[in-house]
Amino acid sequence: MSVYEKYEAVIGLEVHIQLLTKSKAYSSDANEYGSLPNTNVSAITLALPGTLPMHNKKAVEFAVKLGLAVKSSIRERNEYARKNYFYADLPKGYQITQDKTPICTGGFISIKNGDGRSKKINITRIHMEEDAGKSIHDQDPTDSLIDLNRAGVPLVEMVSEPEMSNGDEAYKYLTEVRKIVRYIDVCDGNMEEGSMRCDANISVRLKGEKKFGTKVEVKNMNSMRNVQRAIEHEIKRQIDLIESNETVNQETRSFDAVNGTTFSLRSKEAANDYRYFPEPDLQPVIVSQEYINKIKATLPPLPDELFSKYTSQFNLPDYDASVITENKQTANYFEKLISHTKNYKAASNWILGAIKSYLNENALAIEQFSVSPNRIAELIKLVDDGKVSNSVASQNIFPEMVKTDKSPLQIAEEKNLIQQSDENALLEMAKQAVALYPDKVAEYKGGKTGVLGLFMGEVMKLSKGKADPKIASKLVRELLEK
Ligand code: ADP
Ligand code: MG
Repeated sequence: MSVYEKYEAVIGLEVHIQLLTKSKAYSSDANEYGSLPNTNVSAITLALPGTLPMHNKKAVEFAVKLGLAVKSSIRERNEYARKNYFYADLPKGYQITQDKTPICTGGFISIKNGDGRSKKINITRIHMEEDAGKSIHDQDPTDSLIDLNRAGVPLVEMVSEPEMSNGDEAYKYLTEVRKIVRYIDVCDGNMEEGSMRCDANISVRLKGEKKFGTKVEVKNMNSMRNVQRAIEHEIKRQIDLIESNETVNQETRSFDAVNGTTFSLRSKEAANDYRYFPEPDLQPVIVSQEYINKIKATLPPLPDELFSKYTSQFNLPDYDASVITENKQTANYFEKLISHTKNYKAASNWILGAIKSYLNENALAIEQFSVSPNRIAELIKLVDDGKVSNSVASQNIFPEMVKTDKSPLQIAEEKNLIQQSDENALLEMAKQAVALYPDKVAEYKGGKTGVLGLFMGEVMKLSKGKADPKIASKLVRELLEK
C-alpha cells in the first residue's frame, strides 16, 4: 500500500457567483463586463462621503432563485454587515456582505460518481455581498492600475460543507453549480472571465480518523480543471509534509497554473480581523413566503429533475440524459422534440448524433440550429414508418434539411429515397433472387443460414437499393423455409 492510500482528503468549496443584474448591488451603476475601465463608477461606487447605498431587488431575487434551485431554506429577515479591510480596490474600506444572517441555509448539490451513484454535497450557506474592483499589476512598468467597474457588482457566495474527497468531486460539484446558475439565468458561469470563482479548502487525515486535519485555503484558480489540479497537488503536498514529520500550516495559498503547484500567500497569524458589524446604511431585507412562492413559480425545470425524468420515465441511458441536460438550450430542444414524437430514444440519438456533430462542425450552438424540432420528429416518423432507413435518414435527408426548409418526406420523394415496402413487389423480387441460386437454397435448408445475405444482396440490387430490409428479409426467409 502506498503511503497516500493511508490518508483521505476533506474538501469544502467557497464559490463566488457574480449575478447577471443590469446594475450594481447597491447603486445604479452598470454591471457590465468588458466596459472601458472606470466608466461604470459613480460617487456611490467611489464611496464619496455622504453617499448612501440602496439594495438591488434583482440581486435579492437571484439569490432566492439560486437558494430554491439548490433546496436551501430562505431567511425571512436579512441583515447586511460590513466586513472591514483595507485594500486599493475597495474604495469604501469595507465590503457590504451578510455575516450572521445569510439569505440561504442548507440545501445540496448532487454529483454523479463514476459508478452511476450520486453523492449529495451539502451547502452550508449562501449569502449576498458585493465584489471589489480590480488591481492591475502587469500593464504599466512602474504603477499598479485600478479599475473600479467591478466594485459593487452583486455576488452571492455559496459555501459547501467539507464533504468532498478529491479533485474530481470538486470538479463535478463546480460543473453542477455552473449548470444550475446557467439554467436559472442568474450568472453566466464563466470561470475564465471570473464571473464564477472558487476558493478550495483542503485538509488530509488518516483514514478512520474522526478529527479534521488542518485546512489550507487555495485561491486563484481560473478554471474548473485548475481547481481540480490545485486540490490534487495540495493533497499530495500535505501528505508529504505529514509523512516527513512536518506540520501543515493553516494558511492561504495561491495556485500556480504553469507549474501546477501552490505557494503561500499568508499564514493564519497574518489573517485579517474583519471587525464585522451591522451595516447601518441599509435596511434589513424582508423576504416573505408569498415572494418566495412567486419566485418558485419562475424556476425552469432543473437539470437534475430532467435527468431523472429522462432516465426513469423515458428509460434513456444515463449518458444520453446527461448530454441532453448539459445545458438548458439542449434540454429545451429535446423537450420540444418529444412533444412531437414518443420515440424518445430516437429523439435522443438524433441530438447526440447527427445534430451534435453538425453543430460542432459548424461551431454553432443549438439555439442557432435552423431545423425545427417538429421537422426532426417528422424524420423520426419517416424511419419508424419504414419509408427510409436510418442510414438514408442521416446520410441523405438530414444534410438536406439543414440547407432547406423542406420536409423530410418531400426531400425523400424528390431524391427518390423512399424504401420499397410494397409486399407484392418485394415478393416478386425475392422470388427472382431465390430462383437464381438453387444450390444455395439447398445449403440454407441444410442449416447454412449465412447465405441469407446473398439473397438479400440480390433483392437490394433488383430494387436499386430501396427494398425495406426488414420486410425483404422476412419474405426471403419465408421462401427459403418453405
Ligand atoms: P473560515 O472561517 O476559515 O472561512 P469556514 O468554517 O467558514 O472557515 O469554512 C470555510 C470552508 O472551508 C467551507 O467550505 C468548509 O466546508 C471548509 N472547511 C472547514 N474546515 C475544513 C477542513 N478541516 N478541511 C477542509 N475544508 C474545511
Ligand atoms: Mg471563509
